[in-house]
Amino acid sequence: MSLKGKSAIVTGSTSGIGQAIAVALAAEGCNVMLNGFGDKAAIDRQRADMAVKYGVKVDYNSADMSKGDEIAELVAGTNAAFGGVDILVNNAGIQFTAPIEEFPPEKWNAIIAINLSATFHAIHHALPLMKAKNWGRIINIASTHGLVASKEKVAYVAAKHGIIGMTKVVAMECADTGVTCNAICPGWVLTPLVQKQIDARAKADNISVEKASADLVGEKQPQHKFTTTEQIAGLAVFLCSDTASNMQGTQLVSDGGWTAQ
Ligand code: NAD
Repeated sequence: MSLKGKSAIVTGSTSGIGQAIAVALAAEGCNVMLNGFGDKAAIDRQRADMAVKYGVKVDYNSADMSKGDEIAELVAGTNAAFGGVDILVNNAGIQFTAPIEEFPPEKWNAIIAINLSATFHAIHHALPLMKAKNWGRIINIASTHGLVASKEKVAYVAAKHGIIGMTKVVAMECADTGVTCNAICPGWVLTPLVQKQIDARAKADNISVEKASADLVGEKQPQHKFTTTEQIAGLAVFLCSDTASNMQGTQLVSDGGWTAQ
């Protein structure tokens, strides 16, 4: 399959899963708009490396995904730079853990803004561009936490369940167009977002980081293996293929058996 000539926005693509998806789309010939926070020199290197290696256009937009007006500008800027937004990967996300009684309201607001509302704003602005071409792929990075719960993650679990619902609504609204909208639900993926939770667990349980990492993945995933960023990126590329053109409003789960239990 080739995505030559298509253009994609991957939110939160300066790290982890988003970075791997951006690379995988570029490898298929797609122009990519990167987004996310990080060191300017590192982002410049990421852009240049991808552009040279895959012969595609790679640009960067610093939109803060908690701000609707900056998301509008991200979509408009990508359209201006690449002549369209064919693929939208809603990936940017943050985490915070605490029991609900101790959960700071400002953390609730931030997680709902970045992990849920940002996806609404991005789709709201990008969908007319996709419908105009009668082709588009909207890929929402949800989580196993869009399907099941864990304690101390009230905002994250609420946001990810919301993403699954939003995915279904958009899929229904796009059903008679060439645009599809689907979600991917990863289990534990070893990225900075999860490393923070492993480090906190090692400290709380007074155990090594290695033991905390094995405990964390083992208690949820019967395979006792992390899901990899490349495995999630492969699913995103698959959702862009013709083979996936009949898939609407689904959840692709890659979680080492977590939610099969
Ligand atoms: P990560 O911390 O490695 O990357 C998060 C990205 O989002 C970074 O590029 C960061 O700069 C960006 N970001 C954060 N806040 C932002 C904001 N306000 N505006 C713009 N960009 C912002 O995390 P990750 O693990 O790669 O997570 C990516 C997505 O995958 C998230 O939606 C997360 O919920 C989801 N996910 C992760 C896991 C996992 O185990 N790592 C599992 C399931 C789902």
